Amino acid sequence: MKQFTSLLIEFEERVKHLVEELQFLKMRAYALEDENEKLRKEIMDVYQYYLKETGDHKKGDQKPGQGLDNLIRLYNDGFHICNLHFGQSRSEGDCLFCRGFLEKR
Ligand SMILES: [Zn+2]
Repeated sequence: MKQFTSLLIEFEERVKHLVEELQFLKMRAYALEDENEKLRKEIMDVYQYYLKETGDHKKGDQKPGQGLDNLIRLYNDGFHICNLHFGQSRSEGDCLFCRGFLEKR
């Protein structure tokens, strides 16, 4: 019986440890979600800037093509820049829509 009790205590310790780990992972997931949201907004800003720039080449003191450079960088960083999946990560490799979008420019 004594062995059983110590087994239970050991088990309890493990569960406590797992709960701690779970809490840590949960916090990490929250942080990643926040970061993801922030990055998505940044990407949208870049996209909006690009649309504005291509809509009116004369305005702004940025070099022409900078918006496109940013989009190409985004694409190379593994994000979609096409209308269909804009801002989502490009886990499946090359995207035909993104490539089509880039080739049009
Ligand atoms: Zn795409």
